[in-house]
Amino acid sequence: MCLATSAKSRYTRLMLDQAAILTIDTAALARNWRKLDALSGGEAAGVVKADAYGVGIEVAVPALLKAGCATFFVSHFSEGLRVRALAPQARVLILNGYAAEGLATYAEHRLSPVLYAPEHVAHWRGHGAGLAPAALFLDTGMNRLGLPLTEGLALLAGENLRAANISLVMSHYASSELPGAPETALQLNGARAIVAATGQGPNAGIALSFDNSAGHFLKDRVPGTLTRPGYALYGGNPLVGAPNPMQPVVRLEAPVLQVRQVKAGECVGYNANFVAARDSVIATLSCGYADGLPRNLGNRADWPGGIALVNGVECPYAGNVSMDLITIDVTALPQGSVKAGDLVTLIGDALDIDRVGALGRTIGYEILTSLGPRYARVIR
Ligand SMILES: *Cc1c(COP(=O)(O)O)cnc(C)c1O
Repeated sequence: MCLATSAKSRYTRLMLDQAAILTIDTAALARNWRKLDALSGGEAAGVVKADAYGVGIEVAVPALLKAGCATFFVSHFSEGLRVRALAPQARVLILNGYAAEGLATYAEHRLSPVLYAPEHVAHWRGHGAGLAPAALFLDTGMNRLGLPLTEGLALLAGENLRAANISLVMSHYASSELPGAPETALQLNGARAIVAATGQGPNAGIALSFDNSAGHFLKDRVPGTLTRPGYALYGGNPLVGAPNPMQPVVRLEAPVLQVRQVKAGECVGYNANFVAARDSVIATLSCGYADGLPRNLGNRADWPGGIALVNGVECPYAGNVSMDLITIDVTALPQGSVKAGDLVTLIGDALDIDRVGALGRTIGYEILTSLGPRYARVIR
């Protein structure tokens, strides 16, 4: 194990901070990518937008490269630059925003735009020659980004994409993680229409891309494409209501700062949301909503809230989550067994990110992408 940073001043600060420790398992990340790559039947890219879902672009990209990943998707240009600095040979596609005024900068860094409007295609046709090839994003029913399918199919019929320096046609599912969702069936029809439109003619055999993480596990899907997993790479469960086929990548442990006895009837934390029903033992942890653990993990009359694992025992949060502190009820543990300095698991083992998301009235994606900047990050 080594600390994420080697700068001595930062190392010293990490050692003196009583910060929670975020451990990132890059070997598990690599194994997750290889599993999804095998399931793709074609090639899996790596979606590393939002700082690799909170894991860190500088941590995730080298591990993914080593595993064999050659294509990366990011949302922002600035994220693309960070990927390029780590991956000189990789294909890097920018999902958000066509930079008509900035194509020279795209050219300089060999970044590929994703075209999602007719005016992007028209501009790219005139200015994209010789740049890293673009992707064309069609909307098959999500109504978020992309050329509407009928417009897209008309374009596929009339345009030689390769001649226009477009090398990939993509779409995106709205509900691939929900088993049997009718909108997925409709979107799959759209995907099949794209497959048919690229089965012959000038665009025959052009690369296609439809699947996000959950798309790899759809019973009915278009195989053999470039897939775009994000969440599952980082250990998120792509299957709602089924066992997680992926390996956990992040673990969060917070130190106990203080342990106190609280008498029955006394309250804990802001707004007295927790009132001890019996004499209790409360441990206060160094972690809070400023670190990305949602305030909705707080325990209150109408919501049980979060859970922490103390020596393997599930202990409920007690009262509100503060900015930098969380109080948990450790009364169930043997008297005296929890002490200042002990590490308590907030994410990891039975507390996977999906469960933490559900306990906090959100989704695991939001837990991951909110992972805070103050953690001592340990890269394995
Ligand atoms: C974010 C994103 C993905 C990855 O989705 P996951 O559910 O995290 O696998 C794939 N494609 C596009 C277009 C995206 O925006």
